[in-house]
Amino acid sequence: MEEWNLSLAPENAAHVQLKKKYELFINGEFQKPFSNKYFETVNPATEQAIALVAEANEKDVDQAMKAAAEAYKPWSKLSGAERGKYIYRIARMIQEKSREFAVIESLDGGKPIRESRDIDIPLAAAHFFYYAGWADKLEYAFPMRKPQSLGVAAQIIPWNFPLLMAAWKIAPALACGNTVVLKPAETTPLTALKLAEVIQEAGLPQGVVNIITGAGKTGAEMCAHPIPNKLAFTGSTEVGKLVYKAALSGNKKVTLELGGKAADIIFDDAPIDATIEGIINGIYFNQGHVCCAGSRLFVQETVYEEILVKLKKRMNTLIVGDPMDKNTDIGAINSKEQLDVINRYLKIGRAEGAEIYQPNCKMPELGNWCPPTLFTNVAQSNRISQEEIFGPVLAIQTFRTIEEVIDKANNTPFGLSAGVWTDKGSKIFQLTKALKAGVIWANTFNKFDPTSPFGGYKESGFGREGGVHGLDAYLKFD
Ligand code: NAP
Ligand code: MG
Repeated sequence: MEEWNLSLAPENAAHVQLKKKYELFINGEFQKPFSNKYFETVNPATEQAIALVAEANEKDVDQAMKAAAEAYKPWSKLSGAERGKYIYRIARMIQEKSREFAVIESLDGGKPIRESRDIDIPLAAAHFFYYAGWADKLEYAFPMRKPQSLGVAAQIIPWNFPLLMAAWKIAPALACGNTVVLKPAETTPLTALKLAEVIQEAGLPQGVVNIITGAGKTGAEMCAHPIPNKLAFTGSTEVGKLVYKAALSGNKKVTLELGGKAADIIFDDAPIDATIEGIINGIYFNQGHVCCAGSRLFVQETVYEEILVKLKKRMNTLIVGDPMDKNTDIGAINSKEQLDVINRYLKIGRAEGAEIYQPNCKMPELGNWCPPTLFTNVAQSNRISQEEIFGPVLAIQTFRTIEEVIDKANNTPFGLSAGVWTDKGSKIFQLTKALKAGVIWANTFNKFDPTSPFGGYKESGFGREGGVHGLDAYLKFD
């Protein structure tokens, strides 16, 4: 196949202001951790340490919770319009600093700069804009129901969309009159800490937003703390179950956004070339580190050969490498640990008898990389078609009838998202009713919007983020 030789198109990182060491953001100030411990956050594409980040211990968590509880008294009494002004200000400042945020996101997490620039950061700003607009209209969102804030929300987020997940959590909580303590993931704390600087600069009252860093232990301490009235968690199903237990024993409200194993369903009347792009976007976007990734592809038998040939051809054009290059399609795997998980599944897939395909792409020597991968000859019972891999790995199966594909698609413990590709509106409606998934895309995939609710069924969790539904998660009613 003829090779494209694109010139390098590196994004300039010189304008980015990063500190060597980050403290905890508590009560409006950056303060040293009681633990006196710091950990390194690493660039997964170069394996170089970027900065030292404070590790919050029990005492630090306690301080952050107390700051949030203290700040709640005046913040919850502020009018919705006043709260909205602060949230709008945060949204505008994210927009103003969007280039800096995008570069930091790619350096810290390994995602292609094109994605952080065009998707993560604009969507994060859009979430703050959207919820700022609701702050003074809660009575209209829930007429006759007297919406009231909950109190303090403890919020824990993963590493795949760091700033965006922070926005999903913080924006609706503030709009509803709550205060928050947020913990970003250990491998990607930097954009949340940059957001802390924005929040400080925006003049948000002290303690309304507290951002503390640390590993799983810090998260567990947040959940076990008596102050928070609400736990909001996005992450793995395994940890989600622990968070749920803590919520039950502490009598706290809880929302869980957990893992997924989405079915992407291709009928023989689908527009094939557009569908190929959709499949690629569904599984290889953000290295497949996407809870709603289309990781199980179901292709109607009559178009299977055609889809496979075209898909492989398209996979050969994907550029894997430097996340800071604007041509890059697939960046670095977020951490060594995650790369180990993915590689383990590649072995499992082979051992289960599936056939692996990877294009012969050049990859940098240093850093964590995985080429786009697909498996054929996959059985419904194979672990690669049942378990979440959270990497650029697609498992392909075929089907003959709509009933068969509904059964196969629903045969999973997860229920977060799905996709359907067809020319027929009637098939779309039939599937959207029959598939047990929180979000179903038709003739597209991985599209996000602040006005649209997102969340799962079954082991993918419960509660919705985004849209009016996302307000409900941060309110109580008489
Ligand atoms: P994870 O291991 O569950 O971690 C998520 C967050 O929880 C991190 O901040 C983590 O801290 C923290 N944590 C770890 N152990 C904890 C404990 N015992 N108590 C409280 N918090 C704890 O998940 P991940 O590997 O970062 O993220 C990948 C998972 O997230 C995938 O399963 C993916 O599907 C899911 N996800 C779901 C959605 C959705 O909306 N449904 C969106 C994105 C991702 P450390 O990072 O420091 O360990
Ligand atoms: Mg990092």
